[in-house]
Amino acid sequence: MTNKLKYFIGNWKMFGDFNDFKIIKRINEFSYKSRNSINQKKIIFCVPATLINHYKKKNKKKYIYLGAQNCHDQSDYGPYTGYISPAMLKKAGAEYVILGHSENRLTGESNKLIKKKIISSLNKKLNVIFCIGETMKEKKRKKTFSVIKKQIQDTLKKNFNINKIIIAYEPVWSIGSNKIPKIDELKNIILYIKKEVKKIFKSKENPKVLYGGSVNDKNIRLFSPIIEIDGFLIGNASRSSKKFIDIVKNYYK
Ligand code: PEP
Repeated sequence: MTNKLKYFIGNWKMFGDFNDFKIIKRINEFSYKSRNSINQKKIIFCVPATLINHYKKKNKKKYIYLGAQNCHDQSDYGPYTGYISPAMLKKAGAEYVILGHSENRLTGESNKLIKKKIISSLNKKLNVIFCIGETMKEKKRKKTFSVIKKQIQDTLKKNFNINKIIIAYEPVWSIGSNKIPKIDELKNIILYIKKEVKKIFKSKENPKVLYGGSVNDKNIRLFSPIIEIDGFLIGNASRSSKKFIDIVKNYYK
């Protein structure tokens, strides 16, 4: 159940301006310089949509990839004030899009809507980072497995190209809280997600499943023993090049 390639994905959320390209630049340089010593890593930065095209143009020698943080469920253009479609993100230079983040689910995004967004994004050849995870209340009621099973089953369909989908397990209670799951519990959840996803796609290949929630340069070592984790979705710590680079370095130490 192990994939060798590890993903390190930054989620800037609603932060960042043009000057912050310096963060991208430093991480791109790190990715290039460590290409031989750490060659099985992929670094992706999901930045605000307003920055994607600017960063894409400036990031000429590309050793990291750019993504967006959400999109509309219609693929192209439409009368939807304030929204951005997958086609628009793709044209701006995004190669990935985060969908189903708990901060968006909190504003009312349902599994049904997230499924539509996945279909539209895949149609426009964007790779999808699909977030799932339980709230603290659900965890306390021992509903973690049933919640994530429903999120998977209601959203992923067997005709989707699973090679273009990365699943990020992000327990809602761990995001921005400095709390992380117990390592043995996390391992079981990652294995469970892989098993459920494989059932849908009837495939022998292992789906890519990341962990996200309060990952930092100090606690990253705790996750290294879970070889089934295919990488990390990193919020707060991805806004500092030093912290982000230390996360990658410390993971491999
Ligand atoms: C996130 O928002 O996807 C996330 C993982 O945030 P943080 O790392 O800040 O907990």
